[in-house]
Parts: sequence; structure tokens; C-alpha cells
Amino acid sequence: MRKLLSCSLLILLAACSANHKITDTEKVTDTIIVNGKLFTAFYQQQAAEYNALCYQAYNIARLRLDEALQQPSEKPRAIVTDIDETVLNNSPYAVHQALLGKDYDSHSWNDWTSLSAADTLAGTASFFKYAASKNVETFYITNRGVKERDATLKNLQQYGFPYADSAHLILRQTISSKETRRQMVASTHTIVLLLGDVLADFSDLFDNKTVDERLENTKLSADKFGKLFIVLPNPNYGDWETAQYKYNYKLTAAQKDSVLKSVVKGYSK
Ligand SMILES: [Mg+2]
Repeated sequence: MRKLLSCSLLILLAACSANHKITDTEKVTDTIIVNGKLFTAFYQQQAAEYNALCYQAYNIARLRLDEALQQPSEKPRAIVTDIDETVLNNSPYAVHQALLGKDYDSHSWNDWTSLSAADTLAGTASFFKYAASKNVETFYITNRGVKERDATLKNLQQYGFPYADSAHLILRQTISSKETRRQMVASTHTIVLLLGDVLADFSDLFDNKTVDERLENTKLSADKFGKLFIVLPNPNYGDWETAQYKYNYKLTAAQKDSVLKSVVKGYSK
């Protein structure tokens, strides 16, 4: 994995504050959302521990793949993987938005993905190449949209990801749930592993669930993690955050901040 940035985030911040004039519509808001996403992107870019967690996940994936290869399978074997924060690292997008005082929006996201500039997570490309060497196909099931197809394939291909072609890249058409798309793969292949950073990458048990339901269903699925389900860390975004907003994607940063501050727990003497 090549290094994400040649300078530290602190240098980047200093340069941006010196060169980027904040306009009225781009005011940096002092919220958990903006500052938190900057800080967690910093973790993704600079913490060796983040890379270690990714290596750990992919080492376990390889172990489980080797076990699966010992089992008979009437159908061809396949791995189903998510892309963002499972294979590709989009933390530069998070930094870009946070420095503008903004959260995610689809327009700016499409600007970012059109660049095909995302780096990879540690350990990911070599794992999928290993799987391909064992004749295990990879299907990339992502909630990137259809118009992101070409740029996404280009981004994957530049790192030599196997099966980075239109037949194996299954984008979001209408609904964000991945269940139907997983079933489509399962109709022709034996799915030996699923990889993702969001629990909905693994099962519809986690589609649009409340915070409490997510916690309960994770407990019910406990024996699958590190076995059939390989989870990559993503401290920057995910259903763990949007579930707090009851999947209302129209909340302002201030409204999100209010929700988050109402649920975090401290202590008092
Ligand atoms: Mg993802």
C-alpha cells in the first residue's frame, strides 16, 4: 500500500487554513460530525494500528478461505466484498469535506470517486489475488451508483484487483439493501466469505435497523464474525452513525450534533 499523503495532516491543516478562504456557505461548524470525521480520517491515514487491523482482518480471511477450500462445493466458490472502507480508503474525501465544514453529500462524493484516486486498505489486494490463484471469484457488491462504474473499475484495476470487470462489479440500482444482490451471486456460486465495514454488507438482519436492533442482531450473529463474516474497521461513517439519526439523511450538521451529544455517555463525581 502506498502512503496516502506525503505530509502530515497537521501540515495539511496549516496549509489549508493559510490558503483556503472559507466562504459564508462553507463555514466550518464546530460539531462532532465535522471535527470527528477529520480526526477519524487522520486515524485512517496515520495510525499504524489502523493498518494492523486491516492486515488482521485479511489474515483471518485468508485462513478462512483456506479452510473453505478444503470443503467440497458443487458450485464455483466466490467471495463477496464491499468496496468503500473494505477495499478502498476514501479518507481524503472525508478530510476534504471536513476542511470545508461539510459532511458527506452525493455530489461531492461523485466528484471524488470520478478521480479513481482512492488508495487501498492494507493487505487487501494481495488477499484477493491469492483467492483468484485458488480459482475463487470475487464479486464487488457496492452501493456506489451506476454512473460510478467506469471510475470504480479503473481505481480497482490500477492495483491489480482480480475480477475488476463489469460482470463482477454489482452496483446499487434502486435499493441500498445488498440482500438481493447477495442472493443473485449465491444462485450460481458458493459464497465462502463476505467482507465489509458495515454490518449490512453481511446480512439483511442489519438493514435499516435501530441502534438497539443492530446491537441485538450482532449478538445473535456473534459466531459468524471472523468466520463467514470478515469485518474491516471504519471509524469515519456507517450505519452505526446514521442509525442514530433514524436514517434521516436530511439532518443538518447541527441537528446531527445534537443527536450525538444526547447519547454519548460521560460520568460525574
Ligand atoms: Mg463500505
